[in-house]
Amino acid sequence: MADRLSEQIRSAREERETRDLILSSMTEGVLLAGGDGSVTFANPPMERHLGGHPGHEADIYPLEIRDAVATAREELRPAPVEAHLDRPDRWLRGSAVPVGTDGSVLLVLRDVTEAHRVDEIRRDFVANASHELKTPAAAIQAAAETIRTAVSEDPAVARRFAGQLESEAVRLSRIVADLLDLSRLETGSELGDAIDLPRLVREETARFEGRAAELGLRLLVTTDRPVDVRGSARDLGLLVRNLIDNAVRYTRPGGEIEVSVGREDARAVIRVRDTGIGIPTRDLHRVFERFYRVDRARSRETGGTGLGLSIVKHVAENHGGSVDVRSQLGVGSTFEVRLPTAPRSPGST
Ligand code: ADP
Repeated sequence: MADRLSEQIRSAREERETRDLILSSMTEGVLLAGGDGSVTFANPPMERHLGGHPGHEADIYPLEIRDAVATAREELRPAPVEAHLDRPDRWLRGSAVPVGTDGSVLLVLRDVTEAHRVDEIRRDFVANASHELKTPAAAIQAAAETIRTAVSEDPAVARRFAGQLESEAVRLSRIVADLLDLSRLETGSELGDAIDLPRLVREETARFEGRAAELGLRLLVTTDRPVDVRGSARDLGLLVRNLIDNAVRYTRPGGEIEVSVGREDARAVIRVRDTGIGIPTRDLHRVFERFYRVDRARSRETGGTGLGLSIVKHVAENHGGSVDVRSQLGVGSTFEVRLPTAPRSPGST
C-alpha cells in the first residue's frame, strides 16, 4: 500500500516536472486565470512578456490583454489580441480562450516584434520604391505631352524634350534593374564556383577605364596575390561594379581611385579607395540602407538609384562576408569587403 502510494506520488511529480519543463521551454507565454480572476499559473515566458507574475488578472497590462481575458470569459469565445509595449519596444500577439466550466481563461501570447519590424521595413520599402518610380514616370509623361504639342510648332523644343524623355526612361529602367537584382539577392546567391577574385576585379575595373579617363580620374588596380572565393561570379561582379561606380561618381576630376584585392587573416579582401567627396560621419552607418543618400541631388545628377550599396551588402552577406566603410569628408572613402576564401583549384574561373 505504502509502495503504491509512493509510486503514485513519484509519477505525479514526474508528470508535473515534465509539464513544467514543456511550459517553461515554450517561446509562447501561457497564463491561466481562474473564474474569480486570480492567476493560478503563468510560465516564465509569460512573466517576461508581462514584466512579472500578475497575482490577479486586474494586474495585467497593457489593457488590451486584460480586456481579451474578460471578453473570453464573458462571451465564452476565443478573443484574439495584439498589444504594443513600451520600454523595450515590443509587440505581443495571441488569444484568450475560455476553458472548463468555472469561468477560467487560458491566455497564450507570442512575441511578434521581429515580424512587425520586417513588416514595417517592407511597407517603407514599397512606399519608397513607389516614390522613386513615380518621379521619372511623371517626368516622362510631362516630356511626352510637351513633345506632342511642340513637334509641329517648335521642333527644337521637341528635340530637347525627347532628350529629357530618354534620360528619364534610362533612369527608370536603372531603378527597375537594381530592384530586380535586389529582390533576386534577397533569396541568396548561387555559391557554385571557385572564383579567381583578382581576375574578376581586373575585368570589372577595366570596364570603367574609359569613363575614368573622360572624367580625369586615375584608376589603379592592384591584385598581387592569388585568392579564390566560392560564390557567384555574376553577383561578385555586381558588387565590385557598384563600388567602383560610386567611387567614380563621387570623386572630382583629378582624383584617384584604387581597387585592390588581397588576402588577410584567411579572408579575401576587396578594397575600393577614392579621394572623393567623402561621407559625413553621421551618415556612415546608414549608407547601406535601400534608397539612403547623403546628397539626393548629387546621386540623381550622376545617375544613382540609391540601391548600389544595399546590393553590395547583400552580395557580401550572401557569400558569408561583410562590408565596411571608412570615410573622411573632403578627403575620401574606403569600402572594404571581406569574404571567406576557397581553396585554390586548377579549374578556378
Ligand atoms: P547611389 O545610387 O545614390 O550612389 P548607393 O546605395 O550606391 O546609392 O550609395 C548610397 C549613398 O552613399 C550615396 O547616395 C552617397 O551619398 C554615398 N556614397 C556611396 N559611395 C560613396 C563614395 N565612394 N563617396 C562618397 N559618398 C558615397
